[in-house]
This record gives sequence, structure tokens and C-alpha cells, in this order.
Amino acid sequence: MSMLDTLRRIVQEVNNAPDIRSALDFMALRVRDAMGTEVCSIYLRDNTAERYVLMASEGLKREAVGHVSLGFSEGLVGQVGQREEPINLEDAFAHPKFHYLAETGEDPFHAFLGVPVMHHGEVLGVLVVQQRDARRFDQSEEAFLVTISAQLSAVIAHAHASGVLFEQLDTPERASFYDGVAGASGAAIGIAKLLFPETDLSAVPDRDAEDVASEIALLDEALVRVRQEIRDLAERAKASLGAEEQALFDVYLRMLDRHALPAEVIARIREGQWVQGALRMVVDAHVHNFEMMDDPYLRERAADVRDLGRRLLTQLQSRNRRQIEYPAHCILMGDDISAPMLMELPAERIAGIVTSRGSRNSHMAIVARAMGIPTVVGCQNLPLKKLDGKELIVDGFRGRVVANASVELKQQFEEIIAEEESLLAGLEKLRDEPAQTEDGVRVQLQVNTGLMTDINRSIERGAEGVGLYRTEIPFMVRDRFPSEEEQRAIYREQLAAFAPMPVTMRTLDIGGDKSLSYFPIEEENPFLGWRGIRVTLDHPEIFIVQVRAMLKAAEGFDNLRIMLPMITSVFEAEEAQHLIHRAWLEVREEGIDVAMPPVGVMIEVPASVYQARALAQRVDFLSVGTNDLTQYLLAVDRNNRQIADLYNSLHPAVLHALLHVVEQAHEEGKPVSVCGEMAGDPASALLLMAMGYDALSMSASNLLRVKAAVRKVSMGFLRRLLNEVLAMDNGEVIASYMDLQLTKVGLGDLIRHRKSG
Ligand code: PEP
Ligand code: MG
Repeated sequence: MSMLDTLRRIVQEVNNAPDIRSALDFMALRVRDAMGTEVCSIYLRDNTAERYVLMASEGLKREAVGHVSLGFSEGLVGQVGQREEPINLEDAFAHPKFHYLAETGEDPFHAFLGVPVMHHGEVLGVLVVQQRDARRFDQSEEAFLVTISAQLSAVIAHAHASGVLFEQLDTPERASFYDGVAGASGAAIGIAKLLFPETDLSAVPDRDAEDVASEIALLDEALVRVRQEIRDLAERAKASLGAEEQALFDVYLRMLDRHALPAEVIARIREGQWVQGALRMVVDAHVHNFEMMDDPYLRERAADVRDLGRRLLTQLQSRNRRQIEYPAHCILMGDDISAPMLMELPAERIAGIVTSRGSRNSHMAIVARAMGIPTVVGCQNLPLKKLDGKELIVDGFRGRVVANASVELKQQFEEIIAEEESLLAGLEKLRDEPAQTEDGVRVQLQVNTGLMTDINRSIERGAEGVGLYRTEIPFMVRDRFPSEEEQRAIYREQLAAFAPMPVTMRTLDIGGDKSLSYFPIEEENPFLGWRGIRVTLDHPEIFIVQVRAMLKAAEGFDNLRIMLPMITSVFEAEEAQHLIHRAWLEVREEGIDVAMPPVGVMIEVPASVYQARALAQRVDFLSVGTNDLTQYLLAVDRNNRQIADLYNSLHPAVLHALLHVVEQAHEEGKPVSVCGEMAGDPASALLLMAMGYDALSMSASNLLRVKAAVRKVSMGFLRRLLNEVLAMDNGEVIASYMDLQLTKVGLGDLIRHRKSG
């Protein structure tokens, strides 16, 4: 077998292992065999104890596993971890750092090769091979071990993050932290409820059987149906299959015999597992055994077992659609939760939401923000099944989830939650006060909307109009394009709710990470692809219908403003203006009396920063979309958790671009606003105000906080702060400096929980 095949095999086996401990054992065994060495050991970093713990070993004494450990700078293992590079020694005993561990029985092994296990730039552990003879491992062996370590780091990272590794060592339960992306700010504590996709066996969580007999009865019912399904299939296949292939169906039926697979499932149920969990366990074990086999024919049988498992699960789920109960203060947890799913659930019971996939701009996150539910998305290492039913803390400020929190940590969060509540209650009195500095400079505070629920929350908080109505949201929650009349009705509700205050409607902004199920866009590089205005200019029929609906909706209110997303050139703005004008003439001809609305463009691509003046000459207003502008200026995907630390709207490049835009717009006498998330962060909002932005548009939940901040400072102070910050060359320093200065003037409470970076 080639090295590459061996590698693939090892990775596959490890991924299929039923739990992390067996995965590590496999890894040690297979690596030792593949390299023909005498010892392969895996040491993992335990950050709490600050030690590398021997977690698996093939060749060292079994008793040592789980017990022996080395300090972070101790021994050769500590050395590999510190240097973050392989150490390859002919004779480990001769090395000054060598630390002899008597319990492991490593006396006879001289040759040593250790490589770090790295994940996202962090050392998770050290993989070591040892051999009796004193010899240096050759280049290809070293490369092999490095490759294995890189491939397996994700598996280890997952287990590491979930805390399962050290839990199994009889040590007390410790807090586990899972980092994701803040989807909706706020903190919550509650019991996790896993929403899992149906007919996906691997997604089924472990749950206790409430009543063994009824779980077995459910299995029996499902078996009857699946057996019938297989017989029907066999019957239908008669004409096209030979006798040999037909025999396959008999194999299936035999597997479904009550003494075969089902007997094992029943045994698991009797041990206390619910039927779906029991089925998953049995199917997993068989699939695993088959996949281990060298015979390709037998390996293929894994697929059969999987298929039968899926069929049984489908039946179980359709027969077993019990009303799901949601405890009070429930934390919804899932791989990916859709917006419609969320909207179906009892909102008053949902304290927080956590998903392992998804992004800040997913529909679900947008809905969660509108509903004010603290949310963390993209928590990749979240062990969903394991956390089902456990108490979790959702930190929607930082984008972090905590399980097994210590009493002290839980208390801290309880305090934060209580403070937030009282802070918000205290801010409510500001509703009708102007957003004005101590020395009388005003800024308009507007809201970003998309859902109907946003309207009430915005009005309650005293919004001065809508700076960004994301029209794609009503498009996203449907299964086809809404008609002109449907759109008109939706838009009219927005315009009516805020009239006479302005409502800035952005034309359809799809592409990137926002897709419509009925208009799929498949691209290699969607953020640099067919997005926003590029799509609608290619589909004037969609664009014109939308603009006509907006214009008709505005009849009698005349508070409509139209805004164009993703403009990169003057030509796009002109073309869109031309189409808007055409639509306006059409609706006027149809007898609708509506004025031509102001038309503006979003500045969210670096190109448009440098065209700001030319654009301002042609349109009525500019609005900066800092979410996209930051991502494009810094070349940091706004949804990629791995590089989330690099996404910083206070980066000097972003600040200087923002200053340039406001100056250029004002040179042309045009108003300019900011409608990205940055505008809703009190500290950033103050900087934007100092730059001269006329309006800031944000999610309703941030509005009062920003207003309170504005009212506590003077423009003189803000201008000085801005000048200081503009002279700095480091975004992190700017963020900390702002925090410090604003805390000094008494804004600590308002900015404290701000998401860093
Ligand atoms: C932005 O990019 O800053 C913006 C407001 O638009 P969206 O977040 O909808 O892309
Ligand atoms: Mg944008």
C-alpha cells in the first residue's frame, strides 16, 4: 500500500471511530504499524492542568495512558510543543531536555521523533514515535508523521474543545468553551435542546428511553413497514435484475429478521436508550466493522447497513413525531437552524440559540437579532449530541458558548444578564430624546429592518426612519419570487409604519452568502461574484418589478428612498437610475401619483470609496455598508470564523476610507450615512459621528445604547479622540484606546460587552 493510501485509510478509520478515545487508539496503532516503529504515542495538551497528558500509546505501558503527563516545558514533548516544530533524535537519552518517565517503560527506546499537532495556529498536542535502535528517522518518515498530524488535528480539536477527552479520565468536569461568531448580541443561560435534521442517522442524539416497551413497539412497527418496502422493491426489480442481484434483497430481509439487527437494537433499548439512539449505535457499530475489512466486497456491505438504518429511521420518525417540548429558558441548538424553523417555535421559551454552522448573515441570525435572542453561530466544534439537555451559557457578545460552567462563571453571566436588563430598562426613557451631544450636535439614528417584527421594536425605540430595509429578507422567506402586488403590500407596511420618516429601501441584494432557494447561484467565489446590483442589472425584469412595487407602495406617503447595493462603478449607478426612472414613468402613466424618490448608492466595495465623489455627483445620497467594506478592504471573509480576529472595522484602512467617503460626499453637498453593524456599536458610532456622518442606521436593539452614548459626550471631545485615533496604525490598539477613553468619561457600561474585533 502506498503511503498516500495508508494515510487515507488511517484518516477514514479515525473519522469513523465511535468515540475519541478509540480514535486515538487507532491512530497510535496504525501509525506505529505504517511506520514500522515500536512505539507511537499521543500526548494532548490539557490547558487547565497546563500539562501534556499521554492519551494513547501503542508500545508504552497501558497503565501509563491517561496518568502520565509532562509540564508544558518539560521533556522532549514539552520541547516540541514550545518550538512548534518536529524534533528528530537518534538518541533521545542523550538530549539535555529528555525527561525519563519510569511509568511508561520507555527505557529501551532510543530513536525519537515528535511532531506538534497544530490547529488554527495552536498546539493541541504532540505525536511521538520511538524505536529501540538508535537511528534518525528519515525525511519521508518525518513528512509522513507531519502529514498525519495535520490531518488528525481537526479530530483532536473537536474532542479537545468539547472537553470529552479529559472528562473520561475521572477528573472533575471542567468548563468547555466553544468559539463561534456572534449572531445576535446578549447573554443567556438555559437548557440546550437539540434540533436535529430528520432522516440523518448520524444526527440522532442519545436520549433516555421513557418507556422501554413502547420504544420496542415503535421499532416493531417500523420493521414491518421497512420489510414491506424491501419486498416491494424486490418485486419491482424482478424484471431488470438477475437472480444473483435479487438475492441481495433476501440478505436485507435477513438483516431485518428480529434475531439479527433488531435484536441488537432491542438490547440497547433495554439498556435505557430510546429507539432512534439505539438504532444509530447498532448501525454505527456494524458500519464501522465492515469498513475495517480488507475485502472490498465486505466493505461495501457497510453501505447496505447504512441504507437499512436510514429506512428504519425514516419510519421511526414519521411514526414518532411526538410533540417536542421546549423547556422554559431553552437554548436551541442545531447544526443549522433555518429561519422558518425558528419562527414556528414558541418565542417566549427560547432564551438563546447556538448553531455549529451558519453565518452572521444567515436568515436565522437576522431573525434572531430582530427577536432579540442572544445567538452564537458557526460554533464548529460544538458536540451537539453530547450537549443535548445540558445547561449552556450563550455569550452573544463575544460569540462563545460555555458548557459545564463553574459556579463563579455562571454567577458572572447572571450578573451580566441582570445588568443588561436594567441598562435597557434605564435607556427606555431616552426614546423621545434627540440623539444630540452635550454641545448640541445632532445625528440621525435610524434602523435596519427586514422583517415585520422589526417595525414595532424600531418604533418603540424611537427610530428616526429606516436607513436600510433589506428587501431580500421577504424574498428569502418565500419559495418563489413575490409578485409585484405582494411586494407592494409588504413595502407599504414599512412605509406606512414610519411615515413621514424616510424609509430607505435597498434593491434586491442577493448572491454572496444570501441566496434564494428558488434562484440558486452556484459560484466558486460568491463574494467576488454575481452579487447585488450585478444580478439585478442582468435581470431588469426582476429589478423593474421591485422598483414599481416600491413606487406604488409609496403613493400618498412619499417617504421612499431607493438604495443600490454593491455598486463598483458609475456605470452601474447610471444604468440602475435609468431603470428606476423608466419604472417611475410607467407607474405614473398607470395613474399613480408618486414623486420620483431620492436614489442613493451603497459604498461597500473599495472601488466605490475611490469613486465616492463621482458617485455623489450623480446620486442623491451615499450610505456606507461597513460589513462588506471591511471584508473587501481587509480581504477577510465576514463569515469565516477562522479569521474572525482579523475582521476589524476599526482597522486604520477602514477608518481612513470612511473619512474619505464622508469628505467626498459633503464636497458634493450630499448626505451620507453608515448602515453596517459598525453604526450600532456605541464606540464606533461616536467616531463616525465625529467624522461628520449625517445618519447612522443600525439594528433596533442597539439604538438606545448608541443614543445614550451620543448624549454623554461633546463634539469637541469626539473630534480630539478621532484625531488621535486617525494617527494610530493598529486596529487593535485603536479598539483598546477607544475603550479606555470612553470608560474614562463614564461610558464603560454602554461599551463593556462590545464584541471585540
Ligand atoms: C453592509 O455590507 O454593511 C450592509 C449593510 O449590507 P449587508 O450586511 O446586508 O450586506
Ligand atoms: Mg452589504
